[in-house]
This record gives sequence, structure tokens and C-alpha cells, in this order.
Amino acid sequence: MSMHRRTVAQVLAAFDREIGLEVTVRAAAVAAPPDPVPVPSPARAAPTATPPSVPRVPVARVTADPGAPEARLAEIEARHAAACPHCTTASAHTHLVFGEGAPDARLMFVGEAPGEVEDRLGRPFVGPAGEKLDEMIAAMGLRREDTYIANVLKSRPPGNREPLPDEVAACGPFLVEQILAIRPKAIVTLGGSATKMLLGTDTGITRMRGQWQRWTPPEGSECAPIPVMPTYHPAFVLRTYTKEVRAQVWSDLRQVMAELGIEPPVRPGTPAPRS
Ligand code: SF4
Repeated sequence: MSMHRRTVAQVLAAFDREIGLEVTVRAAAVAAPPDPVPVPSPARAAPTATPPSVPRVPVARVTADPGAPEARLAEIEARHAAACPHCTTASAHTHLVFGEGAPDARLMFVGEAPGEVEDRLGRPFVGPAGEKLDEMIAAMGLRREDTYIANVLKSRPPGNREPLPDEVAACGPFLVEQILAIRPKAIVTLGGSATKMLLGTDTGITRMRGQWQRWTPPEGSECAPIPVMPTYHPAFVLRTYTKEVRAQVWSDLRQVMAELGIEPPVRPGTPAPRS
């Protein structure tokens, strides 16, 4: 069923069921988390001196005056479209998928690359994984259009393979420019590949998720470091539809809500607090 034909209450109730919450239980009563995953030390999460197995997002060009976010994003998109195609995915995609959402979004989601449906429609996260992301956003009490959603790569790699270094080198700086234009208060990376590429780490998503990281802007950008919360990709949640995975994702999102000062939405049937 399309997200657009479901009420917010239906979406929230569905998400509650998925993560194992009853509709009358407040989000604060989330079940105890699974056995703790060993937390990587900052030194392990930091970029390593050895050659990375996953390409890094390179530094973007920096302008002293970033201007209004909306105009800035339009200029970046136009410049990207004019410069592309210029790498190995050039002949494989149907549409460029630059990104979409609020130019002044407080929360930004970053994925790896467009999938088949995204490639066909030219929009990020609109297939089944996109519908799952929509549910995650609604469960946070936000609307999709309140956030900004983008990928490291702006086109679908052939056969949905992982991005190659030259592709990340060509497209990654435009993602950095998007972040600098929007300057969100927090970024959620979706999946291990996007997390590794944006943060420059080789640590896997099972160790990174749920642990606040920090994205360091390029020098001269006058942008403060931005907190980054890695979590599982919605497609992984759909493939690995266990209560544990869903509870982990909800736990990660609740940390983001706390960072942004977002109160959990009140579920239908929740008793009103006593005065
Ligand atoms: S990966 Fe980026 S730079 Fe390369 S063809 Fe796709 S959109 Fe263009």
C-alpha cells in the first residue's frame, strides 16, 4: 500500500507493530536492547592509514558565501548535471537522482546510490526501501518533505554493484556541497556503504550503527562538524525482517530524535498524562 494512501496514525501503528511495541505503550518503554555490540573506539572509527577498501567521499569545492540553501542546491544540481556523465556509470542509468527535500532540513538521510525504481523515477528512496524509509521518518513524527534525502552517487551503477572509486571521486564532492548548502543538525547514513564512504572508515555497519559519529566539513567552509548516526539501510531491514533489527533501527532513530529535540509522537490509544 502506498504511503500516500495511509494515514499517519496507520503508519505509526504499523511501525509500532514492526518493532514490537503495542500501540498503548509509549516509546520510552522500548524493550531492553539486545546484547551490546562491542563499541569501536574513536581510533578504530577514524580513517586508517592503510588503503581503504571502500572509496572515500573527497573534499568538495568550498565557497566563502554559501548563499540561500534553495538557490545553492539548484546551482549545485545544475552544475552536476552539466558535468555528468563523466564516469563509469554514464551509460547505465536512466535518470540522475540528485536528491530532494527541504533545503533547510534539520535532518538529512544519505544512502549509497539509486536503485532500480529510483533510477526510473529520478527520485531518491521511492521503491520498497523508500516506503520503509518513509515509515521510519513518520515514526519519528516528521514528514519526508521535512528532511533532505540524497545518495553519494547520483546515478545507478550497472547491475546495482557497489560504487567504484572513480564514481565516488566524481560524485562525492557534490554530496559534500549538498551537505554544506543544507547544513543539517544531524545526518543519518543508511547502510554500511554510505557510512564508510561519508565517514572514511572501514568499520562495518553492525559496529557503527547506534554510535554517534562526526562528519568534519572541509576547511574554509565555516560549517561546524555535523553529528552522524549510522543505521541499517531500509532495504536490509526489509530483507532481514527480525524484531531485533527493527528495534535496533528504532533505537538509532530515537537517538536522532533526542539530538534534534523531537518528542516521540503520541500513539493512538495512549492515555493522556495526568496533570
Ligand atoms: S556516478 Fe555521478 S558523476 Fe558518475 S555518471 Fe553517475 S551521476 Fe555522473
